[in-house]
Amino acid sequence: MIQTIRGTRDILPADIPLWQRVEEAAREAFRRYGYSEIRTPIIEKTELFTRGVGEATDIVHKEMYTFTDRNEESITLRPEATASVVRAYIQHRLYANRAPGEVTKLYYIGPMFRRERPQAGRYRQFYQIGGEVIGASDDPMIEAEVIEMLDWFLISLGIEDSQLLVNSVGDSHERGPYLEKLRESIAAVLDRLCNDCRHRYETNALRVFDCKFENCQEIIAGLPTITDAIGAESRAHFEQFKSHLDARCIAYTVNPRMVRGLDYYSRTAFEIIGGHLGAQNTLVGGGRYDGLAETIGGPPTKGFGFAFGLDRMVMSMPEAEAARVRERARPDVFLVHLGEAARNHAAFIARKLRAAGLAAGMDFTDRKMKKAMALASESGARFALIIGDNEIAAGVYALKNLETGEQQSLDVEAIIEKLKR
Ligand code: AMP
Repeated sequence: MIQTIRGTRDILPADIPLWQRVEEAAREAFRRYGYSEIRTPIIEKTELFTRGVGEATDIVHKEMYTFTDRNEESITLRPEATASVVRAYIQHRLYANRAPGEVTKLYYIGPMFRRERPQAGRYRQFYQIGGEVIGASDDPMIEAEVIEMLDWFLISLGIEDSQLLVNSVGDSHERGPYLEKLRESIAAVLDRLCNDCRHRYETNALRVFDCKFENCQEIIAGLPTITDAIGAESRAHFEQFKSHLDARCIAYTVNPRMVRGLDYYSRTAFEIIGGHLGAQNTLVGGGRYDGLAETIGGPPTKGFGFAFGLDRMVMSMPEAEAARVRERARPDVFLVHLGEAARNHAAFIARKLRAAGLAAGMDFTDRKMKKAMALASESGARFALIIGDNEIAAGVYALKNLETGEQQSLDVEAIIEKLKR
C-alpha cells in the first residue's frame, strides 16, 4: 500500500472544521484591517529564495526541495511566501498609483515545503497564513497595527496563553560590524560549544542564539547582543514601536537574543510563543524586511510581515473552542426513508431543505428502520426526518430530535422553520 511521504500528512475530514475555523478567523482579521488576498505559485525560480531568504540560512542551505526542470532551469518548492509576495508586488507594479507613504497590505494562505526533521508540530509540508505590509513607509505604527490584528485574531480563537517576544535586529549596515564582534566573542568560547553551534559559527553566527542546549545557553547568555550594537535611528524606531504597543495595552517581552532564521529581517522582529505546544512552540514569526525587494531586483521598498503555521494554530485551539467548532459543523438533518416511494420522496424533500440553506444528509440504500436510524445518528445530524408511505400521503413527516428523542409531525414549511431556528 502506498503511503504519504515522511513529514507530510493528510488532513482528514474530522479535523477540517478546525482548519476552516482558523482560516475564517484569519480572513476576518485581514478583512477588518484592510488586507487583500494574493495567490502566488508554489514553485518559483530557486534564485528567488537563495537571493531573497539568503544562502547561509538553514532554509536555503539544507531544507529546500529543489529540482532541475526538463529545460535545465532550477526550480524550488516555496519554503516560505514573503519572497514570492514581494516578487509579485514588484512584477505587477502593485506600487503604481500609490500616494507617497501609502502601503499595500497583502495576505496569503497555503502550503510551504521544508526538508526539516519531522516531529510534533514540524512537518515537511506545512501550511502558513501570512500578511505583508509593503510600500514606501517604515512607520513603526504599521508594526504595532499588525501585532494588534494578531492579538484580535488569537483572542477570537480563544487562544489566550501566548506570549509576544520582540527585538530589534538592526539595519543591514549595523549587522555587519556586530557580526564581526559576535564571531570574535564566539571564537573565544568555541571549544565549550556544541557541534551545531560550531557549525553555525562558521556559516551563520547569529543562529547560535537558537541553540536549545542548556550548556550552550549559559555561554550564549554572555555573548554580545545585536540590540546593544544598533544605532540611534534603529533604537528610536524600536522605542516608538514599543510605545505604540503600550498605547494598545499589548503585553510583550523584549528578548535581545531572539534572532529570526531568515536573512532579510531588519529592525523589528517578533515571535508569538504558544502556551502548550512543546518543543516547536513558535506560533507566529515576523519582522521588518526593508531591502528584500532590492535583493531580488526591485526598487527600494520597505516591508513588514508575519506568518503563522496553520498546523500549530489548530493544535493551539483550546478544547472548548474546538468543541464549539465541531458542534457547528454537524449537519442539520438526516432523511430516513422506508420503501422505494419514500426514497424518491425523500430526495425531493432533501432538495427543498437544501434549497432553504439546510445541511441535509441522506443515504441512498433502502434499509430497515433500525439500521437507517443508526446511520442518521452516525452522520452527526441533530435531527432525523422519517419518511414512509403514511407520511407521503399526509404531507407531514416525523422530525426526531436525535439528542432528546423528542418527535413531532410537521409539514415541510414547519420543518424548515424549526431547523433554521
Ligand atoms: P518562519 O517562516 O520560519 O518564520 O515560520 C513561521 C511560522 O510557520 C512558525 O512560527 C510556525 O508556526 C510555522 N512553521 C515553520 N516551519 C514549520 C514546519 N516545518 N512545520 C509546521 N509549521 C512550521
